[in-house]
Amino acid sequence: MFHDIIKEFVMPLPRYAFFSDKIVPYSEAKVGILTHGLNYGTGVFGGIRGYWNDEEKQLFIFRPLDHFQRFLESTRLLRMELPYTREEVVKKLVELIHKEDLHEDCYVRPLAFYGDEIIGVRLHNVTPMLTISVLPFGRYLEKEEGAHVMFSSWRRIDDNVIPARGKITGGYVNSALAKTDANLAGFDEAIMLNQDGHISEGSAENVFILRKGKIVTPPVTDNILEGITRNSIIALLRDELGMEVVERSIDRTEVYLAEEAFMVATGAQIVAIARVDHRKIGSGSMGPVTQKVRDLYFNVVRGRVPKYRQWCHAVYGK
Ligand code: PMP
Repeated sequence: MFHDIIKEFVMPLPRYAFFSDKIVPYSEAKVGILTHGLNYGTGVFGGIRGYWNDEEKQLFIFRPLDHFQRFLESTRLLRMELPYTREEVVKKLVELIHKEDLHEDCYVRPLAFYGDEIIGVRLHNVTPMLTISVLPFGRYLEKEEGAHVMFSSWRRIDDNVIPARGKITGGYVNSALAKTDANLAGFDEAIMLNQDGHISEGSAENVFILRKGKIVTPPVTDNILEGITRNSIIALLRDELGMEVVERSIDRTEVYLAEEAFMVATGAQIVAIARVDHRKIGSGSMGPVTQKVRDLYFNVVRGRVPKYRQWCHAVYGK
């Protein structure tokens, strides 16, 4: 029944995975049903995009060192001690992409979890394991050019509940509750509010608004993931578009009254918010600032802007 309402993503499975410290066929990268991370949500993950540049016949991974920095910080929140530096993990990832022989846009999924097959909720006397998989990937949200979003009745998890700053697998139940209710109600995405009613973030995206000529986005202390795209977009808005960007708490009704609003994330990329709760944002279609920063971002991630080339990690021929 739900299949009529929500278009499912059909994704091809990877051929290989990094698992137990080596690259193995994907079908061998398996865990038992008692695995701690599977039962208790004691895992952390990442999401990184690779962009194919056809002129250069090159695959660029976008800001992998920054992604793995956040990934390793998330593991620390769960007391995991992984025996890798971020540089070492990037090397493993490049090896894996070579083995997959990918020459198209793709998505990288690092995942660390407590791999013990035991009963007992805890973060001590358990052993983490690291896996990485990578698969071809296109759009994450259908309506990138003009999404209709809703404010969810599900509140965002608080830093003293499950830190949203960490990309913790168990915490994504909060996102899944909000996302599914939004989709089943006919919306493209949900924005969650904090306990105090201020804007937190989407189920898997950071939020920006344009209000009275200034860009405003919630601060990292408002229960958001410290997004790599958020960080990139703030830099592009300030340094390339000359905009003022303010990080401060945002009221729900400020979004209703915004001139423009958009969401950003690795998966979703830059999504224009056309309507919120059946109210038009600005003209009700993508605004000029969103359009400009989105166009620039797509050039940056494909390695076409020399100034930001250091964000793009070449996979082949280096
Ligand atoms: N917030 C949440 C809850 C997310 O899951 C994501 C996706 N990782 C983001 C924001 C955006 O983060 P990033 O730009 O690093 O992908």
